Amino acid sequence: MAFAKGYTGKVLRINLSSRRVSIEPLPERDAALFIGGRGLGAKLLFDEVPAGVDPLSENNKLYFLTGPLAGTISQSSSRWMVVTKSPLSGAIIRSTGGADFGQELKSTGFDVVVLEGKAAQPTTLCIRDEKVEFIDATHLWGKELDTEKVQEIIRKELGDEKMQIACIGPAGENGTLFASILNARRSASRGGVGTVMGSKNLKAIAVRGTGKIAVADKEKLNEVTKQVVAEATKTHMYEGFSHLGTPGVTALMHEMGMHPAKNFQMGPLDDFSGLSPDKLAQIFIKDEGCFRCFIHCGSIFQVKDGPYKGNPVVGPEYETMWSFGADIYNTDLGFIMAANKVCDDYGVDTISTGSAIAFAMELYEKGILSKADLDGIDLTWGNHQEAYRLLIKIMKREGIGNILALGTRRAAEQIGKGAEKYAMQVKGLEIPAYELRGAKAHGLNIVTSNIGASHMTGYCTQELFGIPEPYDRFSVDGKGALTKSVQDKTALYDSLTVCGFPAAFGWMVPETFSRLLSAATGIEEFSDVNYLIKAGERIYNIERAFNTREGFGRKDDYAPERFIKEPVPNGPSKGQVFENDVLLDDYYQARGWDVKTGIPSQKKLEELGLQKEAEELKKTG
Ligand code: SF4
Repeated sequence: MAFAKGYTGKVLRINLSSRRVSIEPLPERDAALFIGGRGLGAKLLFDEVPAGVDPLSENNKLYFLTGPLAGTISQSSSRWMVVTKSPLSGAIIRSTGGADFGQELKSTGFDVVVLEGKAAQPTTLCIRDEKVEFIDATHLWGKELDTEKVQEIIRKELGDEKMQIACIGPAGENGTLFASILNARRSASRGGVGTVMGSKNLKAIAVRGTGKIAVADKEKLNEVTKQVVAEATKTHMYEGFSHLGTPGVTALMHEMGMHPAKNFQMGPLDDFSGLSPDKLAQIFIKDEGCFRCFIHCGSIFQVKDGPYKGNPVVGPEYETMWSFGADIYNTDLGFIMAANKVCDDYGVDTISTGSAIAFAMELYEKGILSKADLDGIDLTWGNHQEAYRLLIKIMKREGIGNILALGTRRAAEQIGKGAEKYAMQVKGLEIPAYELRGAKAHGLNIVTSNIGASHMTGYCTQELFGIPEPYDRFSVDGKGALTKSVQDKTALYDSLTVCGFPAAFGWMVPETFSRLLSAATGIEEFSDVNYLIKAGERIYNIERAFNTREGFGRKDDYAPERFIKEPVPNGPSKGQVFENDVLLDDYYQARGWDVKTGIPSQKKLEELGLQKEAEELKKTG
């Protein structure tokens, strides 16, 4: 029987140690239960990577996945997902990238590429339809080549301008624990997915496919897609977002007191004028987007004067505006643009990098790190020239940069003297650009997120934008159930490999996903919205089961002490603390997990069809 439409029905497994390549059928039941992308990645990771595997050993596996809508006419639906065990947190990590790699990967004929083992020397994998080649990449390794250059060289060497390449930069080679993977200038950045790729001596994956994705009901898919675009483009949010993208949200977050400064010591900046939308608009050149996306949220900016004057560059996301802006008490836009480019060139996560600099700034302020410890850098708040020097040291792993390249949690352990108090991380992953104390469900999502402090596993638009309905962001009431619901929906669209933005703004809701998915695949269950929401919950729980098997539990779902004990000192969120314990109790109850331990109950796992996983957790105690 033919596999459901929308899928290719095939998994490509590549062992980098033995160079063995095999093609396996994608189990149809797994597709129906875990949809694709993030869900299938979590299922494979649970089944194939046993507890206790060193994330940087050859026993860890790296999964590249697409979803059933990738490559179809459906808009914003062709992202690529990377799933592995994170070297930064030791938990599951899933990170997603945009541009064109997702649809090209799928057109080679595979829904999933599994990478095992470790290549004997630096290698580029070239996948042309079903043909896999191992190409020596020694000349690209250790040369400090920026990621754009690497993609350009590989395309030339392979003699195909249309080849799509996902590669690591020097940071992925040198073991920086928050290295990213880039296609064009879009990256899967969080949790060290690029570090795992580097540990396998894999410099790049180049893909080129000629396959077409067949869908079950083309007319219906076109109709729903047209409707989504027509309705979204009428909204007020569309206009702003498609122009300046996520950096345009900075002013709103600042006004709400959600854009903290000085490593979360302060509420909003006293003087925000340097980062205002007007200032951004002055350096805006044009927008750009990913494959088949009408939103075009990416922006190209050019700084035309000052020390960071340069060529047009791909702009930062909102979180990067913060990590190189308010978090280090800087309002120089030129520095933010330059730092963002350096991070893309070297291939690192901008949130973890900026947070590492803010952490070092606070340690300098508190006298825990001296100027000598910082290799002569005078790291005062807002001193962007000195921050730039430190940034380069982190990229090159020189001096203090060698310690900060391990992420704030490990760096704090090495530095000692109480430094851990100032590491703004959860489960080892640095906290992104939101005041946890100022929006309780958004904060609860960040502390409970399976991958560590991520805003992308349950973005609470109800609290931040009042979409689809407003919630009192300071109240703790009902926030357990709200967080669960947002996290499960996010797990769903991540598994379709649909971008988070159309979902965040309410342009695609679960009913839309159901219509799109059933039209694309013809799988009957997908026409039931409740079935899909349950699938989201199943995916969230299998990720949590993976973490449970690794020893994670309630103790790992806490914000740093600052958020729990110190009220926000200024701005609209003034006086707020993060009521971590109260919120966790409510959340675990909403999830049907054990409240004392934060572990999914056997009953919940069985209810979700995760009997095998429940059994395994029972066995491992
Ligand atoms: S909304 Fe932005 S990030 Fe998402 S797919 Fe479209 S262009 Fe890419």
